[in-house]
Amino acid sequence: MWTDPKITARDVGVHGDRAELEALEDRLQSFVADIADARIDESDEHESTREYVRRLADADFLRYVAPAAHGGAHAQVRSTPLCLIRQWLARHSGALDTAFVMQGLGSNPVNLGGSDALAAALLPRVVRGEAICAFALTEPDAGSDVSGMQTTAHPHGDGVRLEGEKCWISNAGVADSYVVFAREGVQPEGEKPSFGAFWVPGDAPGLSVEPMQVIAPHPIGRVKFDGVVVPGAHRLGEPGKGLRIALANLDVFRVTVGAAALGLADRALAETTAHLKTRVQFGKPLAKQQGLRFALADVATDHVASQLLVYRAAGARDRGHASPDQAAMAKLHATESAQRTIDRAVQSFGGRGVTVGEAVERLYREVRALRIYEGTSEIQKLVIARSML
Ligand SMILES: Cc1cc2nc3c(=O)[nH]c(=O)nc-3n(C[C@H](O)[C@H](O)[C@H](O)COP(=O)(O)OP(=O)(O)OC[C@H]3O[C@@H](n4cnc5c(N)ncnc54)[C@H](O)[C@@H]3O)c2cc1C
Repeated sequence: MWTDPKITARDVGVHGDRAELEALEDRLQSFVADIADARIDESDEHESTREYVRRLADADFLRYVAPAAHGGAHAQVRSTPLCLIRQWLARHSGALDTAFVMQGLGSNPVNLGGSDALAAALLPRVVRGEAICAFALTEPDAGSDVSGMQTTAHPHGDGVRLEGEKCWISNAGVADSYVVFAREGVQPEGEKPSFGAFWVPGDAPGLSVEPMQVIAPHPIGRVKFDGVVVPGAHRLGEPGKGLRIALANLDVFRVTVGAAALGLADRALAETTAHLKTRVQFGKPLAKQQGLRFALADVATDHVASQLLVYRAAGARDRGHASPDQAAMAKLHATESAQRTIDRAVQSFGGRGVTVGEAVERLYREVRALRIYEGTSEIQKLVIARSML
């Protein structure tokens, strides 16, 4: 049943316009088949990101990352279609999924806190695939605890001047648009720091990028701000309230990380079942071994539980009943269970499972970062426990 491409819209009680979501899945199915045929080389991460963004825009999927007022599909950005899209794209490629989601994660803060003029200038270009986006929050000393941020916004004219460094920034170097968070003002001893949010174009003087490499194809790097001047019109939200925008943005997208994990696990399950049916050892297919059947049943059950959690959290948010613990449970369970499912897939493939070029070997590398970015599994547990206590 996980090989049934319609499981998400038909069987999981997805909130939203059912006909629209099923039509979206039909389009995703043929899009992913075309992308597979195109065999896009991901070794040049910038080039493949540009190509993926162009194709996603041509196929109209980027309309789901912006509100209708700026060329988007719905009055407000909805989590359920974002989840469906990520699940489908991740079945094919983690890099394709990243190219899609960064258009939303990197531009939605402008929707949430930018002026009408800034939103009108940027968001239609994002939907058309003309502007590639990045979201710059993490720093060398500020990961799970973003309040350790050292990048500083010094007053400058009607705006600010940015000094500091961000790291592990997806799309660093290929992005045309950066949303940057920075410490503001000087805090008196004992007072909590305050942070601002700012929009910065990729070609701003003083902005430079140093590429980083992670274990799976992913355009990523350090972004340095050496006196980058940001006019007042490019501030997002009120002074000192930038972290609210960062957190509101993560509220929209956190559950979609769970959906990407579902996509990777879907692919692993499909690869595993096909392999178990065809690989013969001890005179019969591996699928006849009860031990392997039990393992398959365990990961399949885990997977469907993840699916229910992801679409429950996405639907609740779209109905205006979002709760942080629902998204946290969805991300936690879906990413952890996808890791187990993919590890099981690699084991079922034996030596082939760790051979470079095999689908399950790629999935094994692609899934790992999902338990880390947009809040590690441990941070999701803190969110869940906080809501209980
Ligand atoms: C592929 C990838 C893409 C990324 N893209 C972006 C991006 O586009 N923009 C961006 O801003 N950032 C991005 N990040 C950064 C990511 O969000 C951070 O890596 C993440 O928030 C964790 O921060 P850290 O790496 O500093 O780990 P740390 O915060 O140092 O954590 C290290 C370990 O300690 C655990 N830990 C920390 N605090 C606690 C606690 N209180 N209780 C229990 N355990 C704890 C963590 O769970 C983790 O296991 C990306 C990261 C990766 C790997």
